[in-house]
Amino acid sequence: MNLILLGPPGAGKGTQAKRLQDRYGIAQISTGDMLRAEVAAGTPVGREAKAVMEAGQLVSDDIIVRMLASRVEQPDCAKGFILDGFPRTVPQAQALDTMLAAKALKLSAVIELKVDDSALVDRIAGRFTCGSCGEGYHDSFKPTAKAGVCDACGGTTFTRRADDNRETVSARLDAYHRQTAPILPHYAALGVLHTVDGMADIDVVSAQIDSVLARVG
Ligand code: ADP
Ligand code: ADP
Ligand code: ZN
Repeated sequence: MNLILLGPPGAGKGTQAKRLQDRYGIAQISTGDMLRAEVAAGTPVGREAKAVMEAGQLVSDDIIVRMLASRVEQPDCAKGFILDGFPRTVPQAQALDTMLAAKALKLSAVIELKVDDSALVDRIAGRFTCGSCGEGYHDSFKPTAKAGVCDACGGTTFTRRADDNRETVSARLDAYHRQTAPILPHYAALGVLHTVDGMADIDVVSAQIDSVLARVG
């Protein structure tokens, strides 16, 4: 099963992708996580991407497409993958079409998580992540069960993203509306687009996605 999760920053793509990974044994591919790893490691790609990401703009299609092409070759993608944060532009969507055709792979579904802009600011401002296992949390909407301790691994260090601040959010939302939303009609025309209400509670969103996937097989 090959899926795309589409939606603005803070829509819940990462949260849902992790659940799908566990449930279906398919690989979560987050281009944002991959870029943050490059930045942390100080690679040439990371050095080029850092300032662009901190400004809330999109990294060049060239870099992203090359990164993705080698990622889908990894063995954990054998049963399929969930693309989280890719494609984000029309040229990226076209490059993905070409890549899938060359491998004789098909997209099972594109799931759009629809969330109001006004809700996204609060989601992004409250987001934090376990530094040990990467589990995602939220100050109000998904706190840890025990303060300062990760539910998933017991870790006690947490990180917040440099770009998760109220100032950068508007640039990121603007990039979504101008550069990413235009790819939705492309997938609608292919008959693979399914829109889910991302304003609902995390478990309700998961259930909606499951019912879409039950229909597409
Ligand atoms: P969010 O989860 O908030 O949507 P991501 O973690 O997916 O954010 O991405 C963080 C940043 O990394 C983006 O603002 C952008 O600068 C860069 N980025 C991630 N994926 C892509 C992509 N497919 N194309 C261009 N830039 C990307
Ligand atoms: P994305 O990957 O699309 O940027 P995340 O999955 O990181 O989004 O979610 C952004 C923040 O909102 C996280 O702190 C997460 O815990 C929280 N969150 C995710 N889904 C929901 C939801 N349905 N309702 C409330 N908060 C949510
Ligand atoms: Zn953890």
